[in-house]
Amino acid sequence: MKASTLIAALGLLAPLSMAAVPAHFSDRAREILADEVAVVPAEHPLNIVYFLGNDNQPVAGYERRLSELMLYVQQFYAKEMTRNGFPGRSFGLERLENGNVKLHLVRGKRPSREYAYATGHNFCMADIKEYAAANPGQLRSDHILVIMPTFYDEQNNDMSPGGVPFYGLGRNCFALDYAHFDIKHLGQDTHEGRLLTKWLGGLAHELGHGLNLPHNEGTVTDKASMGTPLMGAGNYTFGMKPTYLTLNSARLLDRCQVFAPAGGKTAFYAECPKPEIQAASLKWVGDALELDITCTGCAYVNALVQDPPYVVNQDYDAVAFCTERVAGNQYKVTIPIAELAARQNTGKGEQGIDVLFVQPNGNRYRWRTVFDWSQLKPGDSIPMNPAENFWGGY
Ligand code: ZN
Repeated sequence: MKASTLIAALGLLAPLSMAAVPAHFSDRAREILADEVAVVPAEHPLNIVYFLGNDNQPVAGYERRLSELMLYVQQFYAKEMTRNGFPGRSFGLERLENGNVKLHLVRGKRPSREYAYATGHNFCMADIKEYAAANPGQLRSDHILVIMPTFYDEQNNDMSPGGVPFYGLGRNCFALDYAHFDIKHLGQDTHEGRLLTKWLGGLAHELGHGLNLPHNEGTVTDKASMGTPLMGAGNYTFGMKPTYLTLNSARLLDRCQVFAPAGGKTAFYAECPKPEIQAASLKWVGDALELDITCTGCAYVNALVQDPPYVVNQDYDAVAFCTERVAGNQYKVTIPIAELAARQNTGKGEQGIDVLFVQPNGNRYRWRTVFDWSQLKPGDSIPMNPAENFWGGY
């Protein structure tokens, strides 16, 4: 390669928003972040709120620790988006002058005990709403990650954190902080290392929900080469064993507000007409299911195949597939039965296939067909009725 070509090639790889790792970051963080990929600047960065009750204090060193950890999670998403064909895309993070990630420190009106796991999110979000009203323009998008210090009581402490909300809820999600929540423990086979995978993997997974992702499982082939999907059981492997984002997840993130590149003017989540399904067919052809959909108004059409029951938190087994646009508004995907092999009911019992319609502005719709393998034989068509089973959002 000629020098000029090399320089041009290096130019293409030039950082887009890659700040040097700040001087006050830990040595371990610099080591881990050394291979960072350039992240495309975002129009609407993710809001991160560090939330306290009226009687507690931040966990020591939280600004540096959480900055290091959030940049690591941002890099995980950026690298997985790149691998899935969306170079450098990740959720945006606001940075302070010293290189730390901006955290909104919000103090609630109640004692910390009242912000407990089961219902604490209601009080917490009400307090954050007041903060937003009192500080117009501070929150930059519709997505909020809330981080609260662990409870310190009979059950919970820095070696066994918990007690506070920890889940995704619409565009909000909740994670926790504790003294050993520090990137220096990443991948270590120690109690602190395993705790970090649990709580940082948990943060990355719940954040996925807060960024519009449902649960999904990988295909047999992808899991063999890439490990565990983050939105499957990846919260138990993150940072310790190979963990990845499916293309299905990446497509949803491509249409998520906080992944939108700077300068974009998309009105995310604004009301717009539902997709119009003009034709749909599902057939058992040889050793695969073939799904054909004709619909208008979609950026992507994804599919998930799973065993019953079809309810939240029993859907980690939903194997993710993506249609290809074959012409105009026609989408198609071939689902090899072998890729579903790990599902208990494949080939013998009831399964459901959800078609997920993703609109350019991030609105999403899900449409379910249920069928029973024991009633089918190769060559059969599986009835799909676009007029029924179609519902908004998820
Ligand atoms: Zn989940």
